[in-house]
Amino acid sequence: MAKCIVIGGGFAGLASAAYLTKAGIKVELLESSPKLGGRAYSFKDESSGSIIDNGQHIMMGCYTETLDFMKLIGAGDNLLYQDKLKINFVKEGFKVLALNASRLPYPFNLITGLLNYKAISPKERISLLKFFLKLPFQKVNEIKKLTVREFLLKENQSENAIEAFWAILVVGALNTSMEKASAEIFLNILKRIFLSGNAASAIVLPKYGLSETYCVSAGKFIAEGGGIINMPEGVTGLIYEGMLLKKIITAKRIIDDFDFVISAVPFFAAEKIKNFSLIVPHPGMSFSPILSVHVWLKENKFKDDFYGLIGSEVHWIFNRGDHITLVISDAGRFIDKERGEISELVINELQKFADIKKDEIISIKIIKEKRATFIPTNDINGKRPGTKTNLSNFFLAGDWIDTGLPSTIESAVKSGRLAAEMILKNLIDCYSDSV
Ligand SMILES: Cc1cc2nc3c(=O)[nH]c(=O)nc-3n(C[C@H](O)[C@H](O)[C@H](O)COP(=O)(O)OP(=O)(O)OC[C@H]3O[C@@H](n4cnc5c(N)ncnc54)[C@H](O)[C@@H]3O)c2cc1C
Repeated sequence: MAKCIVIGGGFAGLASAAYLTKAGIKVELLESSPKLGGRAYSFKDESSGSIIDNGQHIMMGCYTETLDFMKLIGAGDNLLYQDKLKINFVKEGFKVLALNASRLPYPFNLITGLLNYKAISPKERISLLKFFLKLPFQKVNEIKKLTVREFLLKENQSENAIEAFWAILVVGALNTSMEKASAEIFLNILKRIFLSGNAASAIVLPKYGLSETYCVSAGKFIAEGGGIINMPEGVTGLIYEGMLLKKIITAKRIIDDFDFVISAVPFFAAEKIKNFSLIVPHPGMSFSPILSVHVWLKENKFKDDFYGLIGSEVHWIFNRGDHITLVISDAGRFIDKERGEISELVINELQKFADIKKDEIISIKIIKEKRATFIPTNDINGKRPGTKTNLSNFFLAGDWIDTGLPSTIESAVKSGRLAAEMILKNLIDCYSDSV
């Protein structure tokens, strides 16, 4: 039986390990930390007893790779699926302006939803509608060098429509400003979200803490298929000869009994592994932080699952039942700020947007993820490596691989599936050559 070592236990590593397990390949997964999940995990907050995520994760119906992976590991029911797109946008004073797809058949449900979106003027809604009607015909070549902001201005989107509609969408999907984000990558995801049927644009949320939502099921699926997960066991070096990876050095041992290896670690971690950078050239990426602020209230008055804030430094509020989570994406300017200063901002925004007073707050916990996602600029398009490397038995996975998607769960899972499929193809080719 062929054996594959998978380095890294985030979405990408778990997806590749699960698809290989499904195909009957023996998997050994090495994870440097004592837990699975990478940049998407949960843990118990000792002071409140709540299970909290390192950061709220949103998926969408168009995350077909992720939804397939969740089904494969038996975790499809651990997600909450909207039946149609609904986002509550909120202005100061808790003025809720819903973007709500109607009950009409697709695409009229989305069109009527946009036409009824009251945060922008009727004229702006018409421009928005024109934008979406033109979307199927937009050509990547024509916008290749543009940023998202340049693209939106070219398509006659007003400053108000940019603030009250586009800004939250862009920062939520790409975790960077529209002045930096690549129009090409944005266009790709808009097409996936809005041109692929009713379910594609609906929001999908984890039902439980992230680790319970997918890590536990993934670990179980791999173990039941005969795979092994070793953690904590970080890889420190790679030894290759000619076109073959020969040995993996970990903090505990040297491993040489494998047929294939998949690296499923982000580039910033992989470049610390000896010889990795000699095999895979630097893709020239930089990273953007996300701040998650978990707040426990005396009384949780929020009724819906989540809210997008218009004109605030805080982009989203998620209702987690026993607490709420405020998300600040593209959080470079906050990352080095003292916790007191960040708490102050959150308290002010809760007062302004939801009329929650300071004395209604029991406690606040701030989680800073410095390198949450890579920044999808035009400069990195074409520089992201593919699944194959120059070594015939060494493959790459991770959200940063060239999947055509931004730094998301969907990109990570797709990259993992692609790496697993490449190995299976190799095995089939070897078998056909030998008969
Ligand atoms: C706060 C936050 C919010 C986010 N929100 C969203 C969202 O709403 N929607 C969305 O789609 N995406 C979101 N993302 C992005 C998403 O989490 C990532 O794109 C995805 O989790 C990346 O998965 P990965 O497997 O490629 O990498 P990682 O999750 O980084 O996994 C890599 C793993 O490799 C391990 N590792 C590193 N070095 C070594 C080594 N030398 N040896 C062995 N193991 C090693 C790490 O410990 C880690 O477990 C968010 C990210 C953050 C941080």
